[in-house]
Amino acid sequence: MGVSLEEMVAACRPYTRQGQLPGYIPALKQGDPSRLGACLLSCDGRLSQAGDWDVSFSIQSIVKPILLLQALLDNGVDTVRSHVGVEATGKPFDAINYTDQVLDSQHLNPMVNMGAIAVCSLIRGGSYQERFRRLLDLTRLLAGEESRIQVNEDVYRSEKANGSKNRALAYLLKTYGIIRDDVEDVLDCYFHACAISTDCGGLARIGCVLANQGRRPGSGEALVPPEYARFVNAILTTCGMYDGSGDFAVRVGVPAKSGVGGGIMAVAPGRMGIGIFSPALDPKGNSLAGTRLLELLSRELDLSIF
Ligand code: GLN
Repeated sequence: MGVSLEEMVAACRPYTRQGQLPGYIPALKQGDPSRLGACLLSCDGRLSQAGDWDVSFSIQSIVKPILLLQALLDNGVDTVRSHVGVEATGKPFDAINYTDQVLDSQHLNPMVNMGAIAVCSLIRGGSYQERFRRLLDLTRLLAGEESRIQVNEDVYRSEKANGSKNRALAYLLKTYGIIRDDVEDVLDCYFHACAISTDCGGLARIGCVLANQGRRPGSGEALVPPEYARFVNAILTTCGMYDGSGDFAVRVGVPAKSGVGGGIMAVAPGRMGIGIFSPALDPKGNSLAGTRLLELLSRELDLSIF
């Protein structure tokens, strides 16, 4: 790199002032908006990190690709595709598709809330606690370090107490028979999933498994089948940044997933996984300074897949 990672973080830190903390989950409103950190992990195991890379945050929507991986592992591609679609929505992450007369599962996208809530019901397990436990275990397996992946109970309780929009989405899914189980049980699994917490290192490690055809960086141990990693990367490319995915593809050009906790997990196929954290968001709910930093990194390291 001509410019160091530390210098790029410093160059992007002023942008943290242009974003907003999300107000609809009170626990996230208390974050420090000036934070910005990054961690890069190459497929052969080289690590670089800078800024606030070691601060823990809730991964929020970044759990959606992990939920999808768990659903694929439990059911295979055909069953998953019969329950949720893969077309980009071009709509905000919590949109209600009110122009449809009926809710068609092929109009659900697993990278936005309604589709992800539906995916929770595809995870195997006797109870929704067990399903969440299995998701947490998979997250820990992908990150490679159990201690790096925890559940932030404050964030979980805060969203559960204030999640009326997600409740509305889940009841619509129930009304149209897309989920059959108790709505509160499904939502409890979803809210717990969104409250999984890690640092930039955890996101870089998970992203690197996706970049490395489902194998652990460095050792090459197979963690998920390569075709599932490819499936997830494809959907991240078209929908990972919600209705900002097209702009992100032009500016950065790699599969990525953002969360309202300020994280972004980016996947540079065959090269590296990247974890970014900066909690002040742009109007679409993507980390504002984090996206700027990825843009610089992509240019500096020639990461775009296009
Ligand atoms: N927990 C958040 C929600 O459901 C996740 C959304 C996000 O990260 N964009 O609203």
